[in-house]
Amino acid sequence: MIPIVAEAARVAVVGAGVAGLVVTALLRRRGVHCDLFERSPALDAVGAGIQLSPNGVRILHRLGLAAALAENGVKAQAIETRRWDDGSVIARTHHGPACDELFGAPYYMIHRADLQRCLVGALRPHGVVQLGQHCDRVVEQSDHVELHFTNGAVTTADLVIGADGVNSVVRDAVVQDEPRFSGNAVHRGVIAAGHVAPFISEPQVLFWLGPDHHVTYYPIAAGRTVHFSAVSVTDDARFGSSTTGAEAADLAVAFAGWHEDVRRVVTTAESVTRWGLFDHDVAERYGTDRVVLVGDAAHPMLPYMSQGANQALEDAVVLVDCLGDCAPRDLARAVRRYEELRKPRTAEIHRRSRVRGETFHLADGVQQRERDAALRRTQSLGQLDWLYGYDATLAAKTGVLHKVEP
Ligand SMILES: Cc1cc2nc3c(=O)[nH]c(=O)nc-3n(C[C@H](O)[C@H](O)[C@H](O)COP(=O)(O)OP(=O)(O)OC[C@H]3O[C@@H](n4cnc5c(N)ncnc54)[C@H](O)[C@@H]3O)c2cc1C
Repeated sequence: MIPIVAEAARVAVVGAGVAGLVVTALLRRRGVHCDLFERSPALDAVGAGIQLSPNGVRILHRLGLAAALAENGVKAQAIETRRWDDGSVIARTHHGPACDELFGAPYYMIHRADLQRCLVGALRPHGVVQLGQHCDRVVEQSDHVELHFTNGAVTTADLVIGADGVNSVVRDAVVQDEPRFSGNAVHRGVIAAGHVAPFISEPQVLFWLGPDHHVTYYPIAAGRTVHFSAVSVTDDARFGSSTTGAEAADLAVAFAGWHEDVRRVVTTAESVTRWGLFDHDVAERYGTDRVVLVGDAAHPMLPYMSQGANQALEDAVVLVDCLGDCAPRDLARAVRRYEELRKPRTAEIHRRSRVRGETFHLADGVQQRERDAALRRTQSLGQLDWLYGYDATLAAKTGVLHKVEP
């Protein structure tokens, strides 16, 4: 264990998802006293697959997780977008070794449970997660913050980091706003890899775009299984998961007329979960003097840029760098600087995610053809430099806000 720096602020982190685990690991490595509270009685990852782009993977490599990621993840050779009916390729961006060469890290597709195990591994030498601690609210005082839990417990910290996801209660201490339903819901499931034979020779992320729906699937679990998400336009704003057989049968109806590859993938899973997709408008503030938000708690975004977790990783690095040695008198200044650095970049990715929410589900016609032409114009890996090339550590040190797209 690294000795605790006595004069540093005492920090409490709420939520042990990607953002909370990484920010805690980084702070504890600096010798900062940092409690991590998680409401779940056990660390269970929600959902199955997640894509990690080089901007996030570089951070995980610096945490010492390169070997664990290589063992559990699958490197994407390409990201390909296809038409819903005949499967013709709209656009294809080669990743593979070029991704390492250009951006210093691969693009991984990984099971969320595997990612979580990797992150817990990075945290473990530096202490534990306090499980079953459901934070109810935080109350900021002039010289400390109170954390109230649903079991009646109350504790205090000099700084609270809200890493408690899209329905964050810590966020209530920073902004007063409500989640916004996107008009989309997602069904997610996992199938055996054998159902998608080409993935064995060339693992990739496949997007299929069509009227009122889009589908994404890719291999995970070292290539043993394939994760899919099938997004549909709907006015049913239910949030939360269900795993009934009826949901799987609904997919057969919703995707009638789609290419047989898509139909096979979305109708093969034994169980599926369904979630309404929500985001928030970009908040004016990402923190106050003693309360600061990271990950989905700060900037819940629609998943269409596949960046929520990657941005959570960037947040963690930048926040810890801004906090420096975590001197109590410097906390408010550090939070302001973090906000200045993170808001432009995350707001831009949030904006693009909403645009994709509109354009991914167009019916065939003029707008759909314009969208496809735009996708064809942006197939080169170099055009993703603004996203994959962003170095959170460098940004925190130099104050570079974000790279601009060429
Ligand atoms: C369909 C879909 C696909 C996605 N695909 C990708 C992708 O490919 N790539 C990518 O980068 N991102 C993706 N995302 C987004 C990504 O999942 C999130 O952005 C990411 O998980 C956010 O991490 P987080 O740590 O901020 O929040 P979360 O992962 O939500 O973690 C929050 C944690 O806080 C805990 N918690 C919540 N409330 C409390 C409380 N009151 N007290 C104590 N603990 C609490 C929760 O139990 C949880 O453990 C996708 C999202 C969806 C919906």
